[in-house]
Amino acid sequence: MADNVVEKDTVIIGSGPGGYVAAIRAAELGQSVTVIEKSDTVGGVCLNVGCVPSKALITAGHRLQQAKHSETYGITTKEATVDFTKTQAWKDEKVVKRMTNGVNMLLKKHKVELIQGEAYLDNDTQLRIMPAGPRQFMDNGGGQTIKFKNLILATGSRPVEIKGFKFEDRIIDSTGGLNLKQVPKELVIIGGGYVGTELAGAYADLGAHVTILEGTPQIIPNFEKDMVSVVKKNLEKKGVTIINNAMAKKGENSKDNVTVTYEVDGKEEKVVADYCMVTVGRRPNTDNFGLEMTSVKTTDRGLIEVDEQGRTNVPNIYAIGDIVPGPALAHKAFFEAKTAAGAISGKKTANDFIGVPAVCFTDPELASVGMTQAEAKDKGIEVSSAKFPFAGNARAVSLDAPEGFVRLIAKKDTGTLIGAQIVGPGASDLISELSVAVNCQLNAEDIALTIHPHPTLGEPIQEAADILIGYPTHI
Ligand SMILES: Cc1cc2nc3c(=O)[nH]c(=O)nc-3n(C[C@H](O)[C@H](O)[C@H](O)COP(=O)(O)OP(=O)(O)OC[C@H]3O[C@@H](n4cnc5c(N)ncnc54)[C@H](O)[C@@H]3O)c2cc1C
Repeated sequence: MADNVVEKDTVIIGSGPGGYVAAIRAAELGQSVTVIEKSDTVGGVCLNVGCVPSKALITAGHRLQQAKHSETYGITTKEATVDFTKTQAWKDEKVVKRMTNGVNMLLKKHKVELIQGEAYLDNDTQLRIMPAGPRQFMDNGGGQTIKFKNLILATGSRPVEIKGFKFEDRIIDSTGGLNLKQVPKELVIIGGGYVGTELAGAYADLGAHVTILEGTPQIIPNFEKDMVSVVKKNLEKKGVTIINNAMAKKGENSKDNVTVTYEVDGKEEKVVADYCMVTVGRRPNTDNFGLEMTSVKTTDRGLIEVDEQGRTNVPNIYAIGDIVPGPALAHKAFFEAKTAAGAISGKKTANDFIGVPAVCFTDPELASVGMTQAEAKDKGIEVSSAKFPFAGNARAVSLDAPEGFVRLIAKKDTGTLIGAQIVGPGASDLISELSVAVNCQLNAEDIALTIHPHPTLGEPIQEAADILIGYPTHI
């Protein structure tokens, strides 16, 4: 038995979007909270090696492209170049560090105890904390032992490694892709999901030639084809080579490059690049911290089974974020965190996933919420839909960004909005209005009768609602 046995009330493993938000909410509700984080910074994947740094690189790419290509507006620059060391320093110091410092401050403000170390579960009421790294203490029971009243698991996920592509040298995961020292001349990305495609756009903007190898017939397959085709066209304009139905077979490192072998249409092909970034998905961190020592049940995909409050089959253990079913997105983790913290405090909270938006920060952005037409049809729901193009919107035209559209999906009988999709400028921000609409079951008339400021990118939403109620204005 280890020494240092201490009793704690609410313990949270992981300080990502799930963990730190659960900690804040639990503290707000009067709980005494301890967060255990093995990394030397708080914020998890999202703040350190995910959402936030990826958006910073995307911004840098956009700035470079704007500097290079503004002749249309009468603006020319002599020469626009990238000092990527500076770009990375800005991303790390001014963006990531600022946000993680902010989380640290918030945890302090809410008197959350933060312990750095790796948690390892002993059973349904006890865990050990060990210094992060190899578990040399595990067998002799070293480390500090905590007996907890309630536990929230928020251990997140890690990149999936595929056969033939061991992460080493020039074969990298998304974290490696975010932390390159130089803009590669040639970059191969295996996996054209949202992570791969966002970074493909960023590095293409920064000057790399990028090849995407995607196993399915479409990149970003979780968005509809007519939306993705707008993005695809733009990626191709940036010089990105997109190869669909491609099966990546092996990556071979040499001192100066990596050779990637893949198969397409039954033929074996090769591409040589500076780096090969593999972004084929993420695996939940449920297999590496002693979960098997507890009675917590997992699904066959290794996710933790939870009820609508995030409670596992063990009543005092909750799980949130990337380790439970549902989209692996930061804002979903935020929501589950508040629900679980509320449930521990005896509040009648519940997760309701009707209006979870999904966004892809490509150029232009993709965003969707609720059901697509096809999903509604599958469920036997009769719908009406309306599409308004950004080409008919003064603000989009004045921003020289007229590509894309807003589509609203409503129930045919009541006009209730059940879904929306946007591809176009500002889609990531615009989807919030439609998330409220879908979540609150507003109907098309509610949107049509809401005065939207002019000229703004939000107006196509009102215009699409006008179409749905039968009185289109600007189309
Ligand atoms: C490149 C990239 C871009 C992304 N972009 C977006 C985006 O734009 N929008 C979006 O919504 N989502 C995005 N995501 C997904 C998002 O990052 C995740 O959904 C989110 O981070 C999940 O939060 P979490 O709290 O479940 O886990 P994580 O953020 O993974 O945090 C888990 C934490 O637990 C810690 N931990 C794990 N095991 C232990 C242990 N045994 N002891 C102590 N600590 C432990 C880890 O160190 C980590 O800090 C992106 C992901 C990637 C990789």
